[in-house]
Amino acid sequence: MNILVINCGSSSLKYQLIDMKDEKVLAKGLAERIGIEGGRVKYEAEGHDEVVIEETLADHKAALKIVLDSLKHEEYGAVKSLDEIDAVGHRVVHGGEDFAESVVIDEKVMKVVNDNVEIAPLHNPPNIIGIEACREIMGDVPMVAVFDTAFHQTIPAVNYIYALPYEYYEKYKVRRFGFHGTSHQYITERAAKMLGKDLDDVNLITCHLGNGSSISAVIGGKCYDTSMGFTPLEGLAMGTRTGDMDPAIVPFIMEKEKLTPDEMSSVMNKKSGVLGISGVSSDFRDLEEAAEEGNDRAQLALDIFENRVRKYIGAYLTEMDHCDGIIFTAGVGENSITTRERVAAGLKSLGIKLDAEKNDMRGKEAIVSAQDSSIPLLVIPTNEELMIAMETARLV
Ligand code: ADP
Repeated sequence: MNILVINCGSSSLKYQLIDMKDEKVLAKGLAERIGIEGGRVKYEAEGHDEVVIEETLADHKAALKIVLDSLKHEEYGAVKSLDEIDAVGHRVVHGGEDFAESVVIDEKVMKVVNDNVEIAPLHNPPNIIGIEACREIMGDVPMVAVFDTAFHQTIPAVNYIYALPYEYYEKYKVRRFGFHGTSHQYITERAAKMLGKDLDDVNLITCHLGNGSSISAVIGGKCYDTSMGFTPLEGLAMGTRTGDMDPAIVPFIMEKEKLTPDEMSSVMNKKSGVLGISGVSSDFRDLEEAAEEGNDRAQLALDIFENRVRKYIGAYLTEMDHCDGIIFTAGVGENSITTRERVAAGLKSLGIKLDAEKNDMRGKEAIVSAQDSSIPLLVIPTNEELMIAMETARLV
């Protein structure tokens, strides 16, 4: 069974075609700059050089058309005809309280996803456009929506209700939803296998540390708590997002700087985090380089980032009676040897110990803790596309 995985952003469309027989990626790529000048589609298929098609992409439908033409191209295509694509799996950011699992897309599902635009105005619209474009071009091929929020729907009220007047939850659904769920779910399932435990029986702390970052507490294979909230802004300090801070800062800065709600939201989402602190970059490689060259604010940004990761790990340990593993994933978690080192160093008082030699690697599945560590530390490269494909295959 071949599954096409689609992840639409506001001006981009990422895709992978996966053969579920052996979970092999037959082709993958990215359409960029949709709706603005300088559009291009990158396409990479097994056994062929990368192809880059430079063409104005008026909308997502135009981009998808080029992607599908590439997939069945007679020279470098991965399939002979689109009939060989058995189903499409779509990443959808926000399922609200309506979807605790992936679902086959039909009109009813689309209505609910559309209704959730109110609580995810930045994220759901491009996902909806992607689904509609696929429907128009690919006709009746079965499609599945896999939600970033679904894995977190098991979080109990004690962790999803904010200490605000309860009526805001009832009237506006203001509550913790959590994001990166597909990634937390994937590494949870992989970690259970690596640790030789039943999924129902595994307690974990999963750290997705990338440009956006979040940490989850997983009890019995199910999410119990997570650091992102009503939006992806809460929790860790991220590439460009503030994470946790005193909410009173928001009206204070708005007044001082004469900012509208949209402008303030943009400051907190796009100009803050390690970029805002350092003034150097949101990219952790740039920060590590700058810190090594003696840039104090780059070092401070890294210190704040790592400190907050440790604090969340500490807090989540208090929510479970034991922990079978702490998992690192995503760009920083998989690749930054020093971040893992420094996070672990601050957890010594809990008996957690890293093995420097085992930790000296990037981007591979491994247990990187010392034999006598109180809790195993694992690195597991995340694979959201494969998780979406697995969910799609399961449902169709
Ligand atoms: P997202 O999917 O949220 O855009 P990623 O999970 O791809 O982000 O993570 C991107 C981050 O990972 C960047 O900040 C990048 O600097 C960091 N990263 C990638 N490789 C390394 C590395 N070798 N060392 C440190 N950081 C790295």
